[in-house]
Amino acid sequence: MSTFTAFVASKGLNLAELTNQEIYTELLTFVSQEAADKSKNSGKRKVYYISAEFLIGKLLSNNLINLGIYQDIQEELAEVGKSLAEVEDVELEPSLGNGGLGRLASCFIDSMASLGINGEGVGLNYHYGLFQQVFKDNQQEAVPNVWLTEQSWLLPTSVSYKVPFKDFTLTSKLYRMDVLGYKRDTKNYLNLFDVEGVDESLVEEGITFDKTEIAKNLTLFLYPDDSDKNGELLRIYQQYFMVSNAAQLLIDEALERGSNLHDLADYAFVQINDTHPSMVIPELIRLLTEVHGLDFDEAVAVVKDMVGYTNHTILAEALEKWPIDFLLEVVPHLVDIITRLDSLVREEYPQAEVQIIDETERVHMAHMDIHFSRSVNGVAALHTEILKHSELKPFYDLYPEKFNNKTNGITFRRWLEFANQDLAAYIKDLIGDGYLTDATQLEKLAAFADDPAVQERLAAIKFQNKLALKRYLKDNKGIELDENSIIDTQIKRFHEYKRQQMNALYVIHKYLEIKRGNLPKRKITVLFGGKAAPAYTIAQDIIHLILCLSELINNDPDVSPYLNVFLVENYNVTVAEKLIPATDISEQISLASKEASGTGNMKFMLNGALTLGTMDGANVEIAELAGAENIYTFGKDSDTIIDLYETSGYHSSELYANSLVIKEAVDFIVDPELLTLGNPERLNRLYQELLNKDWFMTLIDLEEYIETKERMFADYEDQASWNRKVIHNIAQAGFFSSDRTIAQYSEDIWRSEV
Ligand SMILES: *Cc1c(COP(=O)(O)O)cnc(C)c1O
Repeated sequence: MSTFTAFVASKGLNLAELTNQEIYTELLTFVSQEAADKSKNSGKRKVYYISAEFLIGKLLSNNLINLGIYQDIQEELAEVGKSLAEVEDVELEPSLGNGGLGRLASCFIDSMASLGINGEGVGLNYHYGLFQQVFKDNQQEAVPNVWLTEQSWLLPTSVSYKVPFKDFTLTSKLYRMDVLGYKRDTKNYLNLFDVEGVDESLVEEGITFDKTEIAKNLTLFLYPDDSDKNGELLRIYQQYFMVSNAAQLLIDEALERGSNLHDLADYAFVQINDTHPSMVIPELIRLLTEVHGLDFDEAVAVVKDMVGYTNHTILAEALEKWPIDFLLEVVPHLVDIITRLDSLVREEYPQAEVQIIDETERVHMAHMDIHFSRSVNGVAALHTEILKHSELKPFYDLYPEKFNNKTNGITFRRWLEFANQDLAAYIKDLIGDGYLTDATQLEKLAAFADDPAVQERLAAIKFQNKLALKRYLKDNKGIELDENSIIDTQIKRFHEYKRQQMNALYVIHKYLEIKRGNLPKRKITVLFGGKAAPAYTIAQDIIHLILCLSELINNDPDVSPYLNVFLVENYNVTVAEKLIPATDISEQISLASKEASGTGNMKFMLNGALTLGTMDGANVEIAELAGAENIYTFGKDSDTIIDLYETSGYHSSELYANSLVIKEAVDFIVDPELLTLGNPERLNRLYQELLNKDWFMTLIDLEEYIETKERMFADYEDQASWNRKVIHNIAQAGFFSSDRTIAQYSEDIWRSEV
């Protein structure tokens, strides 16, 4: 009898008679036992990857793949008439992340375990996560995202720390999830701290709750609304709670492994993922001096040698600056240390732009990170250059040796092996399975680029994936997908810089063209997915516009045979896993210079979608690797855009006035037809915004975007040529494996031993 069947039988159960829910529960126990048998990675210097979010996705399938038993289980279940895919549906996706940043952290812990690096994630155990998105009256509403169930991948531990705040002390409790490497004997953990006493009944209407009851609300939500002071204070409470626990854990574990703390940097490395964990720097210094007796100068030197900072954005509003008064209200004991660090900087570097505490008494977290770390990295080649020569130039001038690039990556175990099983199997037929541990072996596929049989097989797999998506969308999202249409997908957080509004203007343009009788050769389905921060009004307005367009277009008998538009509710990892393998066109259309890297772009490339994108973030590297003839780029380049910001040289109203195409599309936002479907206040506000401000320069690239997209649709009709491009993209996607990224972090920054 095979292993899982035997496991179930040993409990007196018969696999054939179990429900999917019961099979899920048994698999969870089975996998947990397999994981418990693995030994913990034990390299001397341990990496602590601290991150406010981990968008980990469902874990059953991922763990089965990494254990190397996915197909065995699939077959065992099939033998008794069960479907592993249906069992996977039972699992609720953990809600511990938000977008690309949290997904990156999740790919990284997978790769650290797969490479055998002693490296773990540290974060918080949010009970209701970000929020669950529901649509009502063509608008987004936010409700708590319940994901914690009695039986889950979370393992309670006895690890607990006291975290001191100004007026009270909280006691933490550590939960862990096993992080299994791909076919490894060793494992790591994702460490998630929580407070006992979190009170879910605090949540009232939607996701509002009493933000002052810290002992009861601390780990309710990721990124709670910070549009008022109490919200900002809560974020500081959360951040300090996260890093104080991380620092105490790190010191305890180093002591256990034989550190005398003077040599702490030999035992631990902290990677700060964006600025949220920045307070770990003063907290480590505080613990080393106040609890462990190091003198201040030595503690500073030790900490500086064991910290790296990853910058994820050049958007100024995302670089956190906390008013010192707020820090005094929450963590006065850190303010002393931050002030001393600020003095150290002032003594050496008088220039105002590099100070930690500015003249308005705000603490620049990124500045503290840069001064008191040994490495500062950007997340794609272009992004790192912009950091060095523009955004963080004054710091690059001081510390050129600290700056380095680590282009993001994705784990192929989830984004190919699991998400696109037919493609993965076919790749193995063609080139063997060496690419699973050495992704650059995908390059062998290039030899097949002109082979009609391979081209046709890839097209057939894409079609099967469209059928699978059609079933998923019908069963779960109430969407009727046409599998014979070209699938054009834009899935990511809603933000003006990502320019979903530009895609929406294309949709309007196409709708009007079809109304005029200019019909496309083949039906087009435009898919959107993504959440907007509840306090981000314009992003909500963009969602509203798309939902209104969707209602208008899909119900118009003249248009719907040629064009469909859907916004898939509650975009998350599970949705991404279904959408990406079925997509033909990958929309990566951010305003050049604004998207630090992107990782969605990499997932699509690996899954055989062609990129329609600006020369931004990792798109630049995709274009270089795949070859200019295999990707569709358009738009103003980053130098031009940076220059326009510096000279205030952009005026959307001029572009509007000078182009009938632009004017017609923008005007339609407030067309009476649309206004009757939608909320006039939202649509008018968006119209005015585009016309009078358009901070992310939608209109500057709109015409070129329309032309390039039309060229793509025309090119799709030559399937041989299209699929040749697809093959070249997949063949060059190996560079974007997070195994490559993590190997580089390990080599250049962490110096971790395997
Ligand atoms: C990959 C991923 C992202 C990041 O997408 P970008 O296009 O890089 O912004 C966000 N959310 C989910 C669920 C993802 O899987």
